[in-house]
Amino acid sequence: MTSPDKSSHEKIKGGCLCGAVSFEVNNTFEKLFLCSCAQCRQITGSAFASNLFVGIGGFEWKSGAAEIVNYQMPERDISKAFCRTCGSGVPWRNGAGTLMIVPAGSINAPINVAERFRIFTAEQPGWASDLEQIASHAAFP
Ligand SMILES: [Zn+2]
Ligand SMILES: [Zn+2]
Repeated sequence: MTSPDKSSHEKIKGGCLCGAVSFEVNNTFEKLFLCSCAQCRQITGSAFASNLFVGIGGFEWKSGAAEIVNYQMPERDISKAFCRTCGSGVPWRNGAGTLMIVPAGSINAPINVAERFRIFTAEQPGWASDLEQIASHAAFP
């Protein structure tokens, strides 16, 4: 992890698995939230969401914006945006229209982020509560 100041003009690319959706974003993220809330567990189908936040001015769609399906949760400012072909999670805009929330896994380059946080750990599922205890393998064993 490096200081955001070192590469404030660097842009990095991201997109979906099938390649239909692509974007470019300033590589100057202040925060990464690994969110284990129940809603993020369901929309990702995994233990936590990995969300970066960037002002909309630092984000640009390169292709496939029309291929994105968006589900806006009625009760909270949480969306699930995904490619209609491959289902990959892709960035979405917050309700106020000020920020893009970028799934960290959709970016295909090293990410400069100043601080990382795990949040809503109280809602983390038991099967992912002890990650450091689980046997690790560099590839499929
Ligand atoms: Zn796709
Ligand atoms: Zn969450």
